[in-house]
Amino acid sequence: MKNNCIFCAIAAGEIPSFKVYEDELVVAYLDINPFSEGHTLVIPKVHSEGLLDTPDATLAEIIVRVKKVAAHLKAALPCDGFNILQNNGEAAGQTVRHVHFHIVPRTGGDALAFANRPGDREHLKALAARVRLA
Ligand code: AMP
Ligand code: ZN
Repeated sequence: MKNNCIFCAIAAGEIPSFKVYEDELVVAYLDINPFSEGHTLVIPKVHSEGLLDTPDATLAEIIVRVKKVAAHLKAALPCDGFNILQNNGEAAGQTVRHVHFHIVPRTGGDALAFANRPGDREHLKALAARVRLA
């Protein structure tokens, strides 16, 4: 297996996947541990590990494919909306080190949730000043 990377092996057709879309740049296939019905991964065929080492031009092209596949899933499934997830690094829950975008179809009232709570305004103000791009 090239790079010892399971997603490169899927892109090369060396191991099977439940493919839903493919073109010269990307492959999209069902996640085998789905968050929801139709949970799909979109990957570039060329290996990179995450968002930061993927060329800008590639990312620009991938997001258009993500949109295309998401639109198709929304039309093909009982689907009221969808989340796009993209994990980077172990701390963020990335388990496969080949950049990938999750498309997670959602239906009204499903049990999936991202827990959040109100942030402290002063902290948010200081944080924004610290991390703001020039
Ligand atoms: P992440 O946690 O963002 O790295 O997501 C990796 C995802 O890849 C997980 O949701 C896994 O269920 C999924 N996955 C791992 N191996 C395969 C595979 N062979 N085919 C499809 N999905 C896979
Ligand atoms: Zn790879």
